[in-house]
Amino acid sequence: MSENISIRAVAGVVQSLHQTEGAGFEVNRPFPRHGILQVDPFLLLDEMGPSVHGPGEASGAPDHPHRGFETVTYLLAGEMEHHDSQGNHGVLREGDVQWMTAGDGVIHSEMPTRGFQARGGKMHGFQLWVNLPAADKRMRPRYQDVAATRIPTALGKDGRVSVRVIAGEAFGVRAVIDTRIPITYLHATLQPGATWEQPLPAGSNAFAYLISGSGLFGAEKTGARKSQMVVFDNQGDGVRIAVPDDATEPLSLLLIAGKPLAEPLARYGPFVMNTEREIVEAIEDYRAGRFGKIPVEIR
Ligand code: MN
Repeated sequence: MSENISIRAVAGVVQSLHQTEGAGFEVNRPFPRHGILQVDPFLLLDEMGPSVHGPGEASGAPDHPHRGFETVTYLLAGEMEHHDSQGNHGVLREGDVQWMTAGDGVIHSEMPTRGFQARGGKMHGFQLWVNLPAADKRMRPRYQDVAATRIPTALGKDGRVSVRVIAGEAFGVRAVIDTRIPITYLHATLQPGATWEQPLPAGSNAFAYLISGSGLFGAEKTGARKSQMVVFDNQGDGVRIAVPDDATEPLSLLLIAGKPLAEPLARYGPFVMNTEREIVEAIEDYRAGRFGKIPVEIR
């Protein structure tokens, strides 16, 4: 395949910042940060945990608003419960994905389930914020819950690369999630000795986030390890990721790509719009109760 596709260069390797969010849960955040405000169309990536909680210790993000973008939650361990002002309610467990399009505005809560809070245990997951184009920022909110069993796994020919296809396509296997703009969201596991070449849409922005292990990126074999983000150049047909034969553990990573919106960005906490005026409007609408309320009966 390498004779046929031009491999993207590595633009940079970024260390995550350790951050406390919501009601006090710990995250690793590769962006936004100083110098990387976004990887257009992506606004934020948080790795929640991995952390082990005793009974009564787990925390989450109680009722808060969003407008103008999408939040994508992918859980590797633990149990999270979602309630929102559109009346949606869902529980995420290991391997499940929730793709929430906040659009015009939702209030939601993202908390460990009561059972998990009582028992404690390991929590590990990701939240990605995907920006919406100006024309869709006020769209009617949408909610897609995708159980782990519905997320297809693609296998490379030599069996050393396996990919959970959350959005987009890998090794000819297509995701079941419907995205507003074309997005690639892949969770790949590379065994020692593996080389993975993944085509990406022309002109897309792409990055990899390393969950565990380490690997070599691009034709120049730039090294990166756990908790780091590799940002790829947007020129080229795809990316190449390899793990040396003598590696002591597999490489687990997220590969995420999307076509840049290239629109003005006005950002204030949970609101992401195109202009300051629209931010003020979002705050006014939220304060006036126009985002609705989480119905009592779904709690
Ligand atoms: Mn949220």
